[in-house]
Amino acid sequence: MEGEVRGSIEARGSAMKALYYDELKGHKGIKIGEFPVPEIADNDVLVRVKAFSLNHLDVWVMGGTYPVQVPLPHIFGSDASGIVEKTGKNIRHIKTGDPVIVFPGLSCGQCERCMSSHDNLCKDFSIIGIKNNGASAEYMKVPASNIFIKPEGLSFEEAAGIGVTYTTSWNSLVLRAGIRQGDTVLIHAAGSGVGTALIQVAKLYNAAVITTVGDDWKARKAKELGADFVINHQKEDFAEAVKRITNGELTDIVVDHVGLATFNKSLSCLKKGGRLVSFGATSGDEVPLSLRYIFGKNITVHGVYVGPKSAVHEYLKLFPARLKTVVDSVFDFSDAQKAYEKLLSRQFFGKIVVKI
Ligand SMILES: [Zn+2]
Repeated sequence: MEGEVRGSIEARGSAMKALYYDELKGHKGIKIGEFPVPEIADNDVLVRVKAFSLNHLDVWVMGGTYPVQVPLPHIFGSDASGIVEKTGKNIRHIKTGDPVIVFPGLSCGQCERCMSSHDNLCKDFSIIGIKNNGASAEYMKVPASNIFIKPEGLSFEEAAGIGVTYTTSWNSLVLRAGIRQGDTVLIHAAGSGVGTALIQVAKLYNAAVITTVGDDWKARKAKELGADFVINHQKEDFAEAVKRITNGELTDIVVDHVGLATFNKSLSCLKKGGRLVSFGATSGDEVPLSLRYIFGKNITVHGVYVGPKSAVHEYLKLFPARLKTVVDSVFDFSDAQKAYEKLLSRQFFGKIVVKI
């Protein structure tokens, strides 16, 4: 990468090192440069970032395929952990030196939805690192309401992998699909960051978890995480496998973030009254649908975009005793391009993290 900067922040006054891009041409456009340390307002916190984790969202945004206007040059990344460097003058509940996790959802904080645990439905809701600068820098400015104290026993690398992944997973299974004890749940792509979180959340409810992988080595890891049945979708049609595994009873919930390649077959895996959660479409987002199938089987489709802050309060207390971040790999700051290459290769299991 070009323009690497060395030296500590103290030695460089109010400048900080950041990963950024100045055109939307994908991860190959990531550079290292110097930016001013962000100025904070009275209700903000300045975080010294220790690590950030990768999300597929970053790839869509930096490739120009995400339907939002991205300011350039752009510091990216939505999921961060770090240490509080400075707090705005209105802030009482957080202090300098606190180890923290940054919640990635931004909202107005004042509307009815923000005030009633539905901040992800605020009309101003957005994700850190898309319309504003994100986590791929030595320092980031965050509203104090987005700061959560890091649970003890978690490394900064593990903490950086929680925000998007667990908020989406908790919202999907607990808040939206209303998972019940002993439900049968199909989770696609066990090796994705969100797949590793969904398996663990489903097991909190003693669910029978069926999951899919594209490589045998991932099947072993999925079982170690608690999955009861693993289907290699390269070797067996997953819908046929679900019929076989459930003796034709099918599943209560399917979580599908693959889209076109799986969506209709995912519907066919549901019992009557089943719930399908959709929060991604990595294989394509325009899907032919049989409406008769949906109403005939009383199926509910839940669209999920991350989740509310209230979800974080619920799941964070379960770390690290009952939930964990599966960290696939940790890359150095100067190797961020390689980290994204790994994400695109699909040869990973869990979260890919960059330390700063
Ligand atoms: Zn609002």
